[in-house]
Amino acid sequence: MSNALKNLPSVDSGFQKKEVRESLSLFPRETGVEIIRQALDMIRKDTIENNTRGATREELEKKVFDKLSSIKDLYLSSRLKPVINATGIILHTNLGRAPVGEDAMLNLKQVSSGYCNLEFDMESGERGDRSFHLEEKLCRLTGAESALVVNNNAAAVYLILNTFARDREVVVSRGELIEIGGSFRLPEIIKESGARLVEVGTTNRTYIKDYQQVINENTAVLLRTHPSNYKITGFVHRVSPEELVSLAQSTNTIAVEDLGNGLLVKIGKYGLPEEPDVKEVVASGMDIVCFSGDKILGGAQAGIIVGRKDLIKTMSRNPLMRALRVDKLIISVLETTLYHYLIGDYEEKVPAFKLLSTSLEELKRKAKKLAEAVGKIIGDRGEAGVEKGVSYLGGGTTPAEGLETWLVTIKPFRISEDDLNRKLRQGDPPVIARIENGKVVLDTRTLLKGDIEKIVKFFERLM
Ligand SMILES: *Cc1c(COP(=O)(O)O)cnc(C)c1O
Repeated sequence: MSNALKNLPSVDSGFQKKEVRESLSLFPRETGVEIIRQALDMIRKDTIENNTRGATREELEKKVFDKLSSIKDLYLSSRLKPVINATGIILHTNLGRAPVGEDAMLNLKQVSSGYCNLEFDMESGERGDRSFHLEEKLCRLTGAESALVVNNNAAAVYLILNTFARDREVVVSRGELIEIGGSFRLPEIIKESGARLVEVGTTNRTYIKDYQQVINENTAVLLRTHPSNYKITGFVHRVSPEELVSLAQSTNTIAVEDLGNGLLVKIGKYGLPEEPDVKEVVASGMDIVCFSGDKILGGAQAGIIVGRKDLIKTMSRNPLMRALRVDKLIISVLETTLYHYLIGDYEEKVPAFKLLSTSLEELKRKAKKLAEAVGKIIGDRGEAGVEKGVSYLGGGTTPAEGLETWLVTIKPFRISEDDLNRKLRQGDPPVIARIENGKVVLDTRTLLKGDIEKIVKFFERLM
């Protein structure tokens, strides 16, 4: 054992080598030394564990150098990096959901690169409340009396139930006990909030009488949840918001709707099924309505809660607010996003909406441009074409219904489509595509400004 390691350089001798010093030159000396030590430890452990036979000093030095180079790269490179979304899924949770608009980024920069009035009341010069910066805009857009913003929509549901149904009961239809990707399971959130879940109805049919039957003096909340990422069709029945509201009013309970995807405007004209928007749900009399800030709203990760003033005020005083609050970066992005809904230019300024509203002709034009350029580059090594296809809104929304789109399809002849897909994923920037019918498919729906040029460059480098 000791024999196998006797040629391992020491930290000091390692640091004396010119190539090592140069490789670590960006770090302060102590950090450089730590990295060498870390590399040496790893080689030592590896040699012992794998019972490696003795190596020459040169071989070990090379091993150490390779190891410290890869450690160094981890520290210097940005692990979170931009990718090109060619999946056609507009709100792709794994790819960061809604892209942030340019105006919103500008506001973020202005507000966050210096100090701001995050919790400062300009009138009185005293401490203000960060929760209410977005309130007027949200109330105007949703028709609600009051509004509050937290870290995400899961946190919104958690806060609502913890405030009003802790140690009491929340009634939910069995058809709405959802799991959203990324481990949002409604029954678990309910449990964590301290509320007791009372399930009613069946998976496919729930009536208002099912709710009526279980209400007792411990019932605090009647919760209606958007079954965001799945759809039951056929023999189905769900209670309407109005029915739930009227039952809540007559039983002194609170009617809550978790919309998931909070629509501030109608989306039927883009070819998606029409759904009630936040304004309509608020108008139905729901006491509290919550939704995400980075789904179709197109802002930043947040949970937006709107509803009755007294209830919002009670929630804002829950000590949990301290753990669920949003920071200035998020508020500034949301504020700009809401501004664009207010003045009505969201199709232009909110990227998620821009992608959603891009016309088929425009997508076809883009697809042709990209397919032609790629086809020219790959020559007889493959084939590039265009095809009609289907994009999705994503983010756990409207799962069954797609949006028409135009795709670029690439059939490589000399490597497999899996290989090409992997190479795309390893590109700089990575291109996230999919494989369909033996071809690599790039959906133009989710390509942003400049992406076509970057994909063309990728193929130029590849060939
Ligand atoms: C997406 C979704 C959530 C979770 O929202 P996040 O903002 O991701 O925390 C909760 N409820 C419903 C109905 C959803 O669709």
